Amino acid sequence: MIYKNCYVNFKLKEFFLKNNFKISRGSKSKIKTLEIKLTKNNTIGRGECVPYKRYDENLKKIIKILSKNRKIDNINNIKALSLRNAISNAYFDLALKKNKKKFSSILSSSKFKTAITIPMYNIKKFTKEVKKIKNIKTIKVKLDQKNVFNYLNIIKKVSPKSKIIIDANESWSISYLQINEKELKKYNILFIEQPVKSCDDQKIKSKLPLCADESFHLRKNIKNIKKIYKWVNIKPDKFGSETDILKSITFAKKNKLKIFFGCMVSSSLSIIPSLRFVKYCDMLDVDGPSFIKKDYKFGVKYKKDYLIYDKKFNYGYKC
Ligand SMILES: [Mg+2]
Repeated sequence: MIYKNCYVNFKLKEFFLKNNFKISRGSKSKIKTLEIKLTKNNTIGRGECVPYKRYDENLKKIIKILSKNRKIDNINNIKALSLRNAISNAYFDLALKKNKKKFSSILSSSKFKTAITIPMYNIKKFTKEVKKIKNIKTIKVKLDQKNVFNYLNIIKKVSPKSKIIIDANESWSISYLQINEKELKKYNILFIEQPVKSCDDQKIKSKLPLCADESFHLRKNIKNIKKIYKWVNIKPDKFGSETDILKSITFAKKNKLKIFFGCMVSSSLSIIPSLRFVKYCDMLDVDGPSFIKKDYKFGVKYKKDYLIYDKKFNYGYKC
């Protein structure tokens, strides 16, 4: 779908989280997003922009771009990829409404199996969280180098049937990965997501299954990605428009890289539009809205490791 110019409006939104969401490089208790509204012929299309700090984006910069450009002629001129994604999603919504097409009609299901993420907690809280999701198919844990095996042992004991994804968010050293390779193999690990800094990719000499997240951005270092990683993490917010996302999906498929489709901590206004891409992906990580206290009306719900889509959500045509 080709973006054609529309008037852009935006509204600042704030979502408080149920718990502190901590990963190796920081923590947050709330998220601030922009609700993007595109208007054409009295129809409004919506999308959500969640600026990506890791890629040098912030709300101030994005508001500045939008304040200068109330009418965006070419979506490819927008450098901030999270904003490009939000506008693309809003435009998709507009097109569905214009063509009287329900969003549910392009989805294969209303139920999607997802990995469930446990951010960094102390041992007591972590154990409690694992118990809640005992033996689900895939648990994703955010870990730095501290107490890794204590956390893995808890999963092994409490939820032995679950596959484990470790997301280190670039916090491990090359030597830590190397020294612990043998020990890590004793656990039911599906893959380790971004163990080391993306600039250290070429130093990795590991046989463990790895997933590129921060390293798979703007398709830099493509040669290394194919050599080192078996999986790539595709998050719509870090790739941009629908065309950009589909290009990344095509790249992954061509290079036999498995696709782990992810999300930010965000509301249903980010997750629901992104569900149109899940049919191309091997594993989903779409639990972002489960961390916020109060989502949009008719937002997604979670039942164990399933995301449940409610077709009453305001996205696409409603009769
Ligand atoms: Mg990640």
